Amino acid sequence: MARLLITGGAGFIGSHTCVVLLQAGHDLLVLDDFSNSTPLALERVSALAQLDNQSCQARLQVRRGDIRDPAGLDNLFAQSASAGAPIDAVIHFAGLKAVGESMRVPLRYWDVNLTGSRCLLAAMDAHGCRTLVFSSSATLYGYPECVPIPETAPIQPINPYGHSKAAVEQLLHDLAASAPNQWRIACLRYFNPVGAHPSGEIGEDPLGTPNNLFPFVSQVAVGRRKSLQVFGGDWPTNDGTGVRDYIHVMDLAEGHRAALDCLLAEPAQLLTLNLGSGQGASVLEVVHAFERASGRQVPYEHVARRAGDAAITVADPSLALQRLGWRTQRGLDDISRDGWAWQSANPDGYDEPG
Ligand code: NAD
Ligand code: UDP
Repeated sequence: MARLLITGGAGFIGSHTCVVLLQAGHDLLVLDDFSNSTPLALERVSALAQLDNQSCQARLQVRRGDIRDPAGLDNLFAQSASAGAPIDAVIHFAGLKAVGESMRVPLRYWDVNLTGSRCLLAAMDAHGCRTLVFSSSATLYGYPECVPIPETAPIQPINPYGHSKAAVEQLLHDLAASAPNQWRIACLRYFNPVGAHPSGEIGEDPLGTPNNLFPFVSQVAVGRRKSLQVFGGDWPTNDGTGVRDYIHVMDLAEGHRAALDCLLAEPAQLLTLNLGSGQGASVLEVVHAFERASGRQVPYEHVARRAGDAAITVADPSLALQRLGWRTQRGLDDISRDGWAWQSANPDGYDEPG
């Protein structure tokens, strides 16, 4: 079992991955500035992993801090080593992820996503910790030239968020090439992470109006919003609405565990993998699946296409199956059921006691 630093571990994907990693027996140190999350998520993670008070202190440590703070990172690695529990590997979730916001404040995106990653990598290198799982994104494929999209597809981001993820991937390639027998790196390119832990205790809690389809649909179902705007009804798809590859966040969490196991077991390497289901679902298919799961109606209206959208984005996930033995286990109905369990138990997200 390993001792892992989890940056951004209180966030949506991080919190679900923490549950899976704790259940797999790893010890975690979470570093988060809580700029887009709350410590309450980690209290719930600890309960879900059935940690009592004593084991919680040892197995799920939490530090408030910023990945752009070199002195703070240095302390974290040094203190862990001097306490006899050096960090074996890092899972790096901390970052910003909203495409529209990245177009308004690109400096912030380059700062948190690229400078933050550079500071983290420098601290890792200085302390001899060279095993990393990095949260990359399918957004770096831009408008895909062929679907399903293999990892060999051209990298051609169309917004600052995508550019910042592509730049970190490039930095990781440069680093791995500089010391090929030392770095063990997995760049995981997520497609559309959605859903929640089946308990309904943890889930996605976007600030303000959600930009993404799933949280918007579930807020309509729970009555927080009146109706969904469907962006475009004239896409070249079965029902004219956009098609995406939605991946249950628990499948994604299990993908991280599998990637970590692979890095720890195999010789040093840089792995780049799509994490998606390989199945596409249209906006209207998502709406109907959510209506079935919730027993509620989701009113919607068609509006113009959203700038920057692609018609269809679906992963070719075969390399992850080949390299990790991992594939998604859950479909759109599971995603909707678990997403509804979270939304209905926590209508205002973590602001309300669940
Ligand atoms: P999230 O916002 O829920 O989680 C990110 C976490 O990082 C939050 O807890 C936030 O407080 C923390 N954080 C942000 N800046 C920080 C900083 N400077 N220092 C320390 N902590 C900081 O997002 P998520 O959906 O869980 O995404 C996790 C990662 O996956 C991100 O890097 C994101 O870009 C990437 N990703 C997400 C998606 C998606 O659709 N959710 C898709 C592809 C890739
Ligand atoms: N979408 C929509 N209405 C919304 C949000 C999204 O019709 O309020 C559509 C969007 O055009 C795309 C799909 O839902 O076809 C998924 O969008 P999301 O923003 O969730 O993911 P991304 O486009 O970043 O893959």
